[in-house]
Amino acid sequence: MPNSFTRMGCSLIAIACLLTAPVFLSAQSVPLAITGTLVTPQEIVPNGTVLLQNGKISAAGAQVQIPQGATVVRTDGIIAPGLIDLHNHLTWNVFPRWKPIAEFGNRYDWQQKPVYNVLMDVPHSELVSEGLECEMERYAEVKAISEGETSVVGGMNAPCDQGLARNLDFDPELGSGLGEIIYSVFPLTMSQFDVVRALSVLNGKPRGALLIHVAEGSPHDASAAREFSEVEERGLLKAGVSFIHGVALTPQNFAEMAKAGVGFVWSPRSNIELYGDTANVAAAKAASVTMALAPDWSPTGSDGLLSELNYASVWNQTQPTPPFTERDLVLMATSNAASLVGVEDYIGSLAPGHVADLIVIRDTGKTHNKDAYWSLTHAAPEDVELVMIGGVATYGDPAMMRQASGLQPETLKVCGMEKSISFFSEKQMEKSFVQTESSLDRALHEVGRKLAPLAECGD
Ligand SMILES: [Zn+2]
Repeated sequence: MPNSFTRMGCSLIAIACLLTAPVFLSAQSVPLAITGTLVTPQEIVPNGTVLLQNGKISAAGAQVQIPQGATVVRTDGIIAPGLIDLHNHLTWNVFPRWKPIAEFGNRYDWQQKPVYNVLMDVPHSELVSEGLECEMERYAEVKAISEGETSVVGGMNAPCDQGLARNLDFDPELGSGLGEIIYSVFPLTMSQFDVVRALSVLNGKPRGALLIHVAEGSPHDASAAREFSEVEERGLLKAGVSFIHGVALTPQNFAEMAKAGVGFVWSPRSNIELYGDTANVAAAKAASVTMALAPDWSPTGSDGLLSELNYASVWNQTQPTPPFTERDLVLMATSNAASLVGVEDYIGSLAPGHVADLIVIRDTGKTHNKDAYWSLTHAAPEDVELVMIGGVATYGDPAMMRQASGLQPETLKVCGMEKSISFFSEKQMEKSFVQTESSLDRALHEVGRKLAPLAECGD
């Protein structure tokens, strides 16, 4: 990590560049050009430019012509597609870290323990019954966005469709012509009705997607291992399906998945904290399974995708033969994730025609002689300079947000650093973020718990 002087230097340059920038409101009818090091993510483009107009990327690369009258924002940072989170359970992220003293066999195991009931399940139900689910969702989306995420799954759906993060499994707002994305499915509780619905989505045109928890448990747990054959018997080993967790999957299972076009969503931190082990991703890679990376939830996983990228990178380097490059990991959080759910023509790359979901991250790798992929897998929440969703400046450093949004964003603190958030794109919620925090804090206090911080800050 750089020292604070370097960080401050970078932000001052960015701020100075922005002070001359004209105001634009939301999805910029005036073209907006952002310059910096592009991670497209297929390649790194030094001194690149991304041109945005009407909520979309109109050009990206080293030779972009900046039209007359465009707003130009010059940064020293890395510009990458917004991170895509295909595995989360958002409303649970209001809880602080849960550190179980024992490792478990599988998810059905820990969900039956009193420690889970008292600390998690009962308080969660209590908050939902008080009508706070949309507040929980809002807090979790801000947490995700502060970790560089622009697309999420696993929210509460209606009536919490607020338009802040892009909710892929409910209303991705990517235009027509998309198949449905089904999430929140567990094999042992999947009814025949669920199977029929999933098959119709997977056989539809355009094809939809199914994200399903499979074989979540230790590699030695028989019931977790059995789930693979159960899913296979129900006809769900097919393209458009992605398995989540897969800790108990064998190399043979991964080979069958690759053959059938089934993807894989890896959540290493939560796996290791709950089960003491994670999926055999070296086997998945060797079999050429398309893989994404996602945090699961913040109580036992990461606060968001930047932190999960960091965890995955460190885990990778501790392996006798690291299966991944830093580039592989960045692809898993962007373009691979988009293609697993069939939205690769809309999000996940800095490509013309894509919606303008992007992040600007401080380039901390420079001082370590590392490339931009490394900077992304080692960025902390403090390093997030700007998050744009659909061309709307939603979160970032205060000066950049003031200039970019043209609105009065709210201030919040992440790891002691002041950041700004704009709720301009929300459809329903009219409360301030402070009000959301205080209602959650009060309700959690009544059930003997505290509101989790937005980020762990190096704990
Ligand atoms: Zn999960």
